[in-house]
Formats: sequence, structure tokens, C-alpha cells
Amino acid sequence: MTDIKNLSLHELEAFLAGMGKEKYRAAQVFKWIYQKDVEDFDEMTDLSKEFRSRLKECAVISSLTPEKVETSRDGTKKFLFTLDDGEAVESVLIPDEKRMTLCISSQVGCPLDCGFCLTGTGGYERNLTTAEIINQITAVKTSLQPEEKITNIVFMGMGEPLLNLENVVRAIDIMIGEKGMLLPKRKVTLSTAGLVPQIEELGSRCTVNLAVSLNATTNDIRSRIMPINEKYPIEVLLDACKNYPLPNRGRITFEYVMIKGLNDSLEDARRLISLLRGIPSKVNLIPFNEFEGSTFQKPDRCDVDAFHKYLHDNHLVAITRSSKGDDISAACGQLRGKLKGRNIA
Ligand code: SF4
Repeated sequence: MTDIKNLSLHELEAFLAGMGKEKYRAAQVFKWIYQKDVEDFDEMTDLSKEFRSRLKECAVISSLTPEKVETSRDGTKKFLFTLDDGEAVESVLIPDEKRMTLCISSQVGCPLDCGFCLTGTGGYERNLTTAEIINQITAVKTSLQPEEKITNIVFMGMGEPLLNLENVVRAIDIMIGEKGMLLPKRKVTLSTAGLVPQIEELGSRCTVNLAVSLNATTNDIRSRIMPINEKYPIEVLLDACKNYPLPNRGRITFEYVMIKGLNDSLEDARRLISLLRGIPSKVNLIPFNEFEGSTFQKPDRCDVDAFHKYLHDNHLVAITRSSKGDDISAACGQLRGKLKGRNIA
């Protein structure tokens, strides 16, 4: 059985052509699934009964149901999903005044082992399928009130999305496609630890916002907290960022997890300004979210403020992120996909 949610529009056209069906039928099926949230071929009333029963014989429309939903005191919600093989991933819905951002996962666990991230400490299991990526969005969307709407999608949950490029690009095509979920491409952001060849490939295949997890201003410190830096050091990574084709008037977001005594000095702020010169950028300062077993510490508020002010005074757009959802371990770097007492992330 083929899961329709693992297919791009073009792949569905080819699949239906194999059943002798016209190209436009794929667009009809896509709209039912992604715009009307239908999960049963029988509800696709503009398809003939004969076509619907043939579809039921060879295809399925998968879905995910959250096994657990936790709500933070600040309104952030964390969804735990169990997958068909018993693995689990988490998604986080972050409402603020104007936006409702859904942070989705792309892998079960993560092989990159960034020192400040709980997901990375638990090892790697596997890539998510396109359907598993898309179904996080559909499941959360279905849980919302009629007046609520997901406005932004960020690939900042569990996993490095560029290590799962094929499934992630297919999922992005479904999200931004006019027969798909109809999300504006400037509302979709992919966050990477900095895999240079894949950044280049992503740029050649689709135009979405790019966020780069930078976190240090020297290769020495970055390699200590992000082993991937040994392969793609800061200067090589920033060259790839300079060449990335951003959506209209876009900027690359540089995430900077601030860790006490490691990367939170004004000297770091000065180096950061110099590194990002010439790149349309904004910087997200994220005070480190402590987790059990971590040797790093949260920075002092005064150091975060001084760092922020230094960037601002030197005309670099910066936002200090509040730790949304930290009381339910849903903040940046705290996702672990914990299922029935077993840490699988
Ligand atoms: S920060 Fe991202 S890339 Fe690094 S270990 Fe965590 S999930 Fe993986």
C-alpha cells in the first residue's frame, strides 16, 4: 500500500497515471487531503466511486494522533507522537500575539551531538518519512479551535533536517504548494547546524527561510559545542550563507545559544558583528536552557542584555528569545521524544 502523504504532487501524478488517470486527478486528491483535511477516499466526492475503490485497494492516507499533549503556563503546547514502529517524536506549538508557530521534527533523535541540546545527547534512530513530517502539522491543525491557525512552520524540533533532505524538501513542497497546504514560503523556516553542501542543494531546490545554528564566534569554541564545525568551519559555513537564495527581502536567522562563560562576552558580540558583515542577517539570542546532566549553565541576564545591546548599537538586528515552554521541557534544545519512560531521542 502506498501512503499518499509520502508523495509529492508530481509523484502522485505518476502514481495515478499508472492507474490510467489524468494528471488533474492528483491535484483533486491533494486538495482533499491538504486543504480539506480529509483522511478517507470515500469523502472525495468529486472522484467516481470506481476510482475511489481502486484507490482504497492500493493506497492509504496516514495520520498521527498525539499520545500526549502538555501545556505550558505560557500557552506553549508540546505534542508527543508515537510512530508506527514505536519510536516517538515531539512537536511544539508556540502561540504569541500575532503568530502561531509550529516547531516540527525531521528525525528520531539526531546524530550531530551538539553539546547544548538534549536531543543530540540521546543518539540517532532514523529519518522521518515525508508523511511523518507532514502529519505532525495535520495533527496539530486538527486539534486547534476554529478561530486558531498555524501561521509559521519551523524545522527546529528533533533532528537535523538537512540530513533528511529528500523527505524534508518533499514535505516543504507540500506545505507551500498551491495544491498543498498553501503556506507562504516566507512562513517556512529550516534550521540547520550548518551542513554546507546540503545548504547549497536546498537553495537550488526551494526558497524557504534559512536559520543557522551558529552559537560561537571562533572555530575553537564552535567545535567544542558543535562537532559538525570540524567538517564545515565558520568561514566555510558563512560563505554558503552568503550565496543562499533567500525569499524576497529575507534575512538569514543566526541562532546563538548563549552559554555562561563560554560565548557570552562582549568580545564575542564584537566578533559576531564582524563575521556577519555582508550577510542579510538577524540574530536570535537564546539563553541556554539547562537540562539534567548538562555541564553548561544559563548565562546571567545582565550579560545577555549587554550582548543584545552591543549588537543593536552596531545595527545588527537581534531578538532575545524568551524560554517558551521550559516548564514542560519544550524550549529550544530540550526535546527528547520521551516515550513511556524510555529515552529514545
Ligand atoms: S541542536 Fe539540532 S543539530 Fe544539534 S544535536 Fe540538537 S537537534 Fe541535532
